[in-house]
Amino acid sequence: MTDNALIPVLDQPSFSDDALRDRVILVTGANRGIGRAVAMRCAAAGARVVASGRDIKGLEKLDDQIQAAGGEPVSLLPLDLLKATIDDFRMAAKALEDNLGQLDGIAHVAGLLGEMSTLEHYPAMTWHNVMHVNVSAPFLLTQALLPLIKRSPGSSIVFASSSVGRIGRAHWGAYSVSKFATEGLMQTLADECDGQPRVNALNPGATRTLMRRSAYPAEDPTKLATPEDIAPAFAYLLSTDSAEHNGRTFDAQGPR
Ligand code: NDP
Repeated sequence: MTDNALIPVLDQPSFSDDALRDRVILVTGANRGIGRAVAMRCAAAGARVVASGRDIKGLEKLDDQIQAAGGEPVSLLPLDLLKATIDDFRMAAKALEDNLGQLDGIAHVAGLLGEMSTLEHYPAMTWHNVMHVNVSAPFLLTQALLPLIKRSPGSSIVFASSSVGRIGRAHWGAYSVSKFATEGLMQTLADECDGQPRVNALNPGATRTLMRRSAYPAEDPTKLATPEDIAPAFAYLLSTDSAEHNGRTFDAQGPR
């Protein structure tokens, strides 16, 4: 069992204004919540963002917003992580290589909460969907993109983790188990890649998003960190400013 007191906190880390200049960064879950804020923050740091999500209109709005703020045009990568086949992931990787020629970072932010329920009563189909979106799809996408990202010096992969992926908690079901698997995926990949790319995991902590509201409907959201508060920790881990970190798990916020 992990002692959370030992996990380093990256609370709004500072990094250079153009830390991601000329870097191509793929962000999943870019339509809303933390993923959208990560895409915006990476673009503000100079990245060429590849925004992945299910809703193309939402991704187009993100592109408008990033360009209006002076960022590079966004490349859209429509993918439904539940439905995409191995061939879809391979085609996405090929399109990225053909169109942009490089990949310097991946932020695996998309995630599915599933149901809050005991394992005894957990619905089998929800179990499958959560494990697929949170674990199998990021694995398959990463596998397809590894040959390209390995060619980039200083490249970095960051997985969105969770505190319930370190210590199991009643009623968090497949989500909790999937986040344990995310930590394992991160560690195994980091050990295999030996720093190129670097691979780390980041627990956003309680953040004001739809997922959090689904898990804690009675909570006052104004007391929570916003996605914009969390995004710098992702951008920092994606940048070479964090070059010393590999195979580690972090928290994006300390106790509030
Ligand atoms: P949201 O529910 O707000 O956003 C989830 C994102 O995942 C959306 O962009 C959603 O896309 C995408 N997604 C879900 N299913 C699919 C799918 N089948 N294919 C493609 N994309 C999909 O969650 P958060 O922003 O809160 O969470 C982001 C990450 O942070 C998650 O991995 C979560 O586990 C983690 N996290 C969040 C915490 C919090 O307090 N918010 C705490 C700890 C961890 P669409 O818009 O199309 O639905």
